[in-house]
Amino acid sequence: MKFLIARLNHETNTFSPVATPLASFAPDYDDAAFQANKGMRTAMAAFIDAAQGLGAQCITPVSATANPSGTVDAEAYRVLTDRIVAAAPGCDAILLDLHGAMVVQSTPDGEGDLLARVRAAAPGVPLGVALDLHGNITQTMVDNADVMVGFKTYPHIDMYDTGAHVARLVLQMLQEGRQWAVRWKQLPLMSHTLRSTTLNGAMARAVAAATEAEREGVPGMTVFAGFCLADIPAPCMSVVATVEATADGEAQAAVALQQVASQIWNERADYVYRSEPLNAAFDRAAAMAQGADKPVLLLDHSDNCMSGGTCDTMDVLQAAWAQGLEGIATGPLCDPQAVAELVAAGVGAQVSLRLGNKVPLTQLGLHKDPVPVQGTVRAISDGSYTVTGPIYTGQRCSMGRAVWLDLGHTQIVVVEQPHEPWDLGVFSCVGLDPTMYPYLLLKSRMYCRPVFVPLSAGLVECDSQGPTSSDHSLFPYQNLRRPVYPLDAL
Ligand SMILES: [Zn+2]
Repeated sequence: MKFLIARLNHETNTFSPVATPLASFAPDYDDAAFQANKGMRTAMAAFIDAAQGLGAQCITPVSATANPSGTVDAEAYRVLTDRIVAAAPGCDAILLDLHGAMVVQSTPDGEGDLLARVRAAAPGVPLGVALDLHGNITQTMVDNADVMVGFKTYPHIDMYDTGAHVARLVLQMLQEGRQWAVRWKQLPLMSHTLRSTTLNGAMARAVAAATEAEREGVPGMTVFAGFCLADIPAPCMSVVATVEATADGEAQAAVALQQVASQIWNERADYVYRSEPLNAAFDRAAAMAQGADKPVLLLDHSDNCMSGGTCDTMDVLQAAWAQGLEGIATGPLCDPQAVAELVAAGVGAQVSLRLGNKVPLTQLGLHKDPVPVQGTVRAISDGSYTVTGPIYTGQRCSMGRAVWLDLGHTQIVVVEQPHEPWDLGVFSCVGLDPTMYPYLLLKSRMYCRPVFVPLSAGLVECDSQGPTSSDHSLFPYQNLRRPVYPLDAL
């Protein structure tokens, strides 16, 4: 037996100016794709384990994953998907590890188009797909899969389990002759990423309802939060069921889908994040900082490079300065031009330069100017570090060259590549201890929290005009189907 197993992941923020060429995916092909996943915690790893457990041959044409960024380059998509489609004929089962929210220059439905092509290349072959909880589901995706299951956690920690779930159902098609179909309900509801955590709130309750439906016999039930920073017809929440393709199975799933969808709709206000004005956020932060022996964490979630941010906007820092906040540690700020200037000046040099706001926010129609600053170069490093944990412990990371710039009231780590502050290493690589300062400003949404929340006296979320802002009114949607909540009263 031969199983086609492939991984292609991208969450596309169509409002992001960060390009997504083939190189962003760092693709692995064939045996390298197999090796990149075997033994890991990806959905593809679970597919490989399931295939090998059956003694099947694994055909692994592609494993490619890019950080969230702007619309995917058409040629990159063609190269990667052509390899998957070409490998489909002659396989006995197809298991795909996709994201579900990929927008390409050549199609708004990256996954739907791929699934339709794969199905056409191998009609009648069982096809299962594992997706991210932030997938934007479409009818084309649903029509071209037998099994569709998404993550049930955010932060995502169940990728492997999701892959194992998909594989189990596909194996039941092969071994027991079971027949599945994918059914779904989409809601005209754009959820905010900050409200899609499964740790608490409405999303946690929705996932619990889906899990309960599975316990009661629906083979697979997933709540997709969607990814709203995509200018497509429906970057919206969906509930997707894999059902037994019988009258009873269809009926059971229809009831369960309706139940979960109604629960989500009734709680729709809980999926909306209302941004607090920055001055109010800083007032709260200053109150928390009084007498605290740890920094207050300021999270700039409007410029998060793991959702398509440029990692170079200066809004929150400028607003903090304007309000008189002193003693701020922050980083990494991506500004390769500034790094070159600071490295040329050397450690100990007094410098004047224009910092940040260098990447034009064309898609948002925003213009910002680099900010003039004066300071001292404290340290320079190659910007690489080993993650100390608790997540991704031991992984080696690089931010390009890194510089510790001391502005007196603010300590900044300036780097050459966008980088999520998910580990203390982003500061320790230049010798900066960010816990020594009253405020710690990070451009992050979720990933920083396991490390930095325990080190802090409190957390204040800060929104501003960046590519990952939670203020939907900033984004010039052209293709969005209206009405949609919360932009319209529903
Ligand atoms: Zn996600």
